[in-house]
Amino acid sequence: MNRHSDFHYRQVIQDQNQDVLHKLSENRYPEEIEITKFIETTNTTDLLKISRSIRNKNNLRIITYSRKVFINLINLCKDTCSYCTYKKEPPDNNSVMLKPSQVLSIAEAGKKLKCTEALIVTGERPELKYREARDWLNKLNYKTLVELIADVSEKILKKTGLLPHTNAGSLTKKEMSMLKSTNVSLGMMLENSSEALLNVGKAHENAPSKNPKVRIKSLISAGELKIPVTTGLLIGIGESLSDVINSLLLINELNKKYGHIQEVIIQNFSPKIGTNMENDVPPSNDYFLKCIATARILLKNISIQVPPNLSPKIYSGYIDAGINDWGGISPLTPDYVNPEYPWPTIKDIAKITKMKGFTLRARLPIYPEFINNYHKYSNFVPMSLKKYIEDLIDNSGLVKGEYTT
Ligand code: SF4
Repeated sequence: MNRHSDFHYRQVIQDQNQDVLHKLSENRYPEEIEITKFIETTNTTDLLKISRSIRNKNNLRIITYSRKVFINLINLCKDTCSYCTYKKEPPDNNSVMLKPSQVLSIAEAGKKLKCTEALIVTGERPELKYREARDWLNKLNYKTLVELIADVSEKILKKTGLLPHTNAGSLTKKEMSMLKSTNVSLGMMLENSSEALLNVGKAHENAPSKNPKVRIKSLISAGELKIPVTTGLLIGIGESLSDVINSLLLINELNKKYGHIQEVIIQNFSPKIGTNMENDVPPSNDYFLKCIATARILLKNISIQVPPNLSPKIYSGYIDAGINDWGGISPLTPDYVNPEYPWPTIKDIAKITKMKGFTLRARLPIYPEFINNYHKYSNFVPMSLKKYIEDLIDNSGLVKGEYTT
């Protein structure tokens, strides 16, 4: 490209970006190709200004979090992601297979600390790979892992009133339908929609369940069943910015069709000792901030969450990037996926949030928009869950005052 055509190219990009900014200010959506070019050619500082103003337009100066217990039901997994240390291999002493009575004890202890969410986490279909997992289920008299999750979810709900939210990987439509009456929402990270990450030497080489086709199928099933879903992207695992944009556009498309994506987690990859990616470089702060801002710009009506514990020294900056949620924080249990990163105290998060001019409020693992009748896609809350939800909220759909102190 000669100097003249380079100048012309930049001029065209600038004109296109003005057009994109104009459309965004009028709450109109630019074309996919326009927005992609816009994000790729706008510097991070300017993007943050735009994402903040989009967040501020619809926000009452509130940043939310979910006060939870993390129930590490079984940490065996048939897959192996190149960055994961959550998954354990028996006979590792750290492998966990809880009994329903142990699950209930955790939920009861959480209730005493005013938790409202019971996050139930498992590896991906561990019973397909490990005899130990099959024996555990047999001994407890369950045929499948989802049967066990459905049963413990019901017990948690009835005995403690904590609201279950399960993340058990890529579930089938039938499996999700078994959880709908007891789980107010489900979680499943998309991670990224790029199939290149399945290639040899890449992050998902040994994780067939991380094939985007499998994950998208699960997200569609949840939409068809009208189950609110939390999904998200893991940033810095070998993807490009355009992969991030494409993943967010895909999530946006699914949400336009089903209206079921309640929040998107933007999570920074952190290299862990003992994994294939232990020597990989984590994403730069500039790139990560750009990804957060991009999520806010592309997913206007969806909550954007970044976990504070993975960046303990700089997480306040994520408020400047347009987030509106800190995700699940537990006063009781560790982050079993990232145990080396303890959660900041809720008091500290409230202080940092206030310093940025926002108030910290507790939310349920189902967002107010899905509880209140005004959500245009109705039936997200089955009758079986209404009473439990209503017991915990005020008129705003957020957690009542007495549960937050
Ligand atoms: S990230 Fe999830 S799917 Fe991947 S190995 Fe860990 S537990 Fe299994």
